[in-house]
Amino acid sequence: MAPVSYHEANGLVAGYVCAACWGPLSAHPVDDGVDIHCGECGAATPGFVSMRYTEKRKSESLAQYYLARKALREAVPWFFPAKKVPDQLLKDLGY
Ligand SMILES: [Zn+2]
Repeated sequence: MAPVSYHEANGLVAGYVCAACWGPLSAHPVDDGVDIHCGECGAATPGFVSMRYTEKRKSESLAQYYLARKALREAVPWFFPAKKVPDQLLKDLGY
């Protein structure tokens, strides 16, 4: 990506993440401005997305996860055995 100004770099690093991996961005000064790199992808980052967008997507995915886990628990109850208290676990082990 082309270098950006220091002002743009501050805004990008503070409010955006890598579009590929949603990793944090870092600024690297060069002769004609600042290069923005991803911590994971390096300079090969395909672009940026806002942190607000990623937080919204993570929230939606977490809600879907909880719904799926609840549906799976109801559909296949034997896959989620009841939790035992420590005293019962020790008794089961013979102590
Ligand atoms: Zn990345």
